[in-house]
Amino acid sequence: MPYLTPPEDLASLLPGEPPFRIRQLRAWLYRTPVLHAADMTNLPKELRAGIEPRLWPFAVEEEQTADRGQTVKWLFRAGDGASIETVLMGYPSRTTLCISSQAGCALACTFCATGQFGFERHLGAGEITAQVAYAKAWLDALGLPGCSNRLSNAVFMGMGEPLANYEPVREAIRRLIEEMGMSARSITVSTVGVVPGMLRLAEEPWPLTLALSLHAADDDLRSRLVPLNRRYPIDDLVAAAAAYRRKKGRRVSLEWALIKDINDTPEQARGLAAIAQELRAHVNVIPLNASPLSQFRAPSQDAAHAFAARIRAAGANVTLRRNRGGDIDAACGQLRARRHTAHQELAPDTAQCSAAGNLPNVPGNEP
Ligand code: SAH
Repeated sequence: MPYLTPPEDLASLLPGEPPFRIRQLRAWLYRTPVLHAADMTNLPKELRAGIEPRLWPFAVEEEQTADRGQTVKWLFRAGDGASIETVLMGYPSRTTLCISSQAGCALACTFCATGQFGFERHLGAGEITAQVAYAKAWLDALGLPGCSNRLSNAVFMGMGEPLANYEPVREAIRRLIEEMGMSARSITVSTVGVVPGMLRLAEEPWPLTLALSLHAADDDLRSRLVPLNRRYPIDDLVAAAAAYRRKKGRRVSLEWALIKDINDTPEQARGLAAIAQELRAHVNVIPLNASPLSQFRAPSQDAAHAFAARIRAAGANVTLRRNRGGDIDAACGQLRARRHTAHQELAPDTAQCSAAGNLPNVPGNEP
């Protein structure tokens, strides 16, 4: 499994091969990844044949496209059965990949499908990096209609809490930058507010973009939406985000999944605008990707516009994001959720997961 071996240790997979062969393989894995080892044209045929069956550390269980082919979503399956969701979103001038850092998630945010299903396991650095390499290879081979075919951005907004899986996420980021040549600024780590992780990230050598999933401007409401808020309340998050900004000189983004009659009120808008101004942060408002099974609803378009307008009027920077992939199984957590639901229907006496439909959205890095 070449992606599960650190790039510096590839020689251990090919004993007896000269150093230039190892360098060639390393380039095929990271600089110019290909979907099939057969396309590693400068390697001997037998070597390619040996690599082919174990090139990717997961099988492609499903591939879906949406938005006139400009969004592609994969459900990958690791050898042990763990599910990994990855979503590619193309735009005319850039292409963003939404990657998973864990199979499942332990943090149980009440509006998030991944959170409702609980935690499967952490992903390794190689499994995280391979999501990016796969998408890059796929873009190269197939491309997205009307979109840039250069994978320019990666956002840790798929399944899982990246700062709860710190070391593998850090190592994956290092490989994206040093092996794949991505720019640190184009990599966004999105966190629900793991304060020690945020402070650690501020000490790393890279100017990564940090996104904080805020969703509520007071601790009462936030603790209802995000249980982790009881451990790290809003004041601590704001202090950690401010420390990141000071240290890195990078503007932090605030993510806000807008939920009808919950966090779309004028009071919440006022509170959010005040926090955004204090941090000089950019606010991304993302209408909830709701499901019929969930108690939470998406706001109307008018209500979403009105909410964003309030933030703007208060002097803060805001973008109202549109949902991607709504006509497939939307985004992260949902493909896995549907598989789970089907399974539950077959085994009704284990059907605990009635929150199945809380379908998280993939907020891209673009409006
Ligand atoms: N754990 C990290 C990253 C994964 S979630 C975090 O919380 O930031 C990525 C983003 O999707 C977060 O901002 C999250 O709040 C948001 N999200 C989750 N479920 C959603 C839903 N149903 N609708 C809209 N956004 C959702």
